Amino acid sequence: MIFTVDLEDWFCSPELSLADWKRYPFRLEKPTHLLLDMLDEKNAKGTFFVLGWIAEHKPELVKEIHRRGHEIASHGYAHRLVYEQSRLEFKEDIRHSKLLLEQLTGSEVRGYRAPCFSMTEWGLELLEEEGFNYDSSLMPNSFAGESERLRGYPNLNAGSSFRIRRRLIEYPLPAQRIGGLHIPWGGGGYYRLYPYEVFRYGVQSWLKRHDYFLFYIHPYDLDKEQPRIFQSTWSNSFRRYYGLGGTHRKIERMLNDYDCMSIEHYEHQALGMVRHG
Ligand SMILES: [Zn+2]
Repeated sequence: MIFTVDLEDWFCSPELSLADWKRYPFRLEKPTHLLLDMLDEKNAKGTFFVLGWIAEHKPELVKEIHRRGHEIASHGYAHRLVYEQSRLEFKEDIRHSKLLLEQLTGSEVRGYRAPCFSMTEWGLELLEEEGFNYDSSLMPNSFAGESERLRGYPNLNAGSSFRIRRRLIEYPLPAQRIGGLHIPWGGGGYYRLYPYEVFRYGVQSWLKRHDYFLFYIHPYDLDKEQPRIFQSTWSNSFRRYYGLGGTHRKIERMLNDYDCMSIEHYEHQALGMVRHG
């Protein structure tokens, strides 16, 4: 299983303005340490898609994640939806955040995940231009109004990594196809909705057809006491806050059941298999 974390805090939402973020209390350190300790206990590694703004304000946390052997990748700088930015704004956002993370860790940043899976075709083109090797932002999801953006990628339904541009690999997020619908199965808010046994059944059936399963989580998915900001709609607030208390235990069970690794480690392993096979 590939284990990924989108490293951002509870207030890093496109619904709250960037200028206001500094007024809110940070809460991500405790759940992030909890995740790091759980991963350490199983000698598992993950890919952390770090928000540039967080790296700027919590550099020691990002350095620690890197020091503990996890891959640092980019989640952009300001958590703005890709399709709401101009090409120039997006280019500056990914360039700035990549540089920031590389200076902090001394390691190359190879991967990117778009805020709220908002990737576009021109976004992928710019990622390639800016020297990224892979993207992990595309998720078929019938409930989020599957947009035009995903229609050009029939490979997405296959659910394994594929070459989306000449020098860019895509690691799509898994979705189950049930009754003609795409139901997200990779983690986050959706992970909290299903009982662990149901989630595991989905993973098992996925692994019969694919080389790996890709999981994602946010630190705030483990934070029961986080302030409530998503009051706007019932479905938003349900998806954001339901089942927070059970996440910790579910991740523990998952780490017991599966060997978890970062995208970087998965690539090394896959390449090794090609070389030796
Ligand atoms: Zn995010």
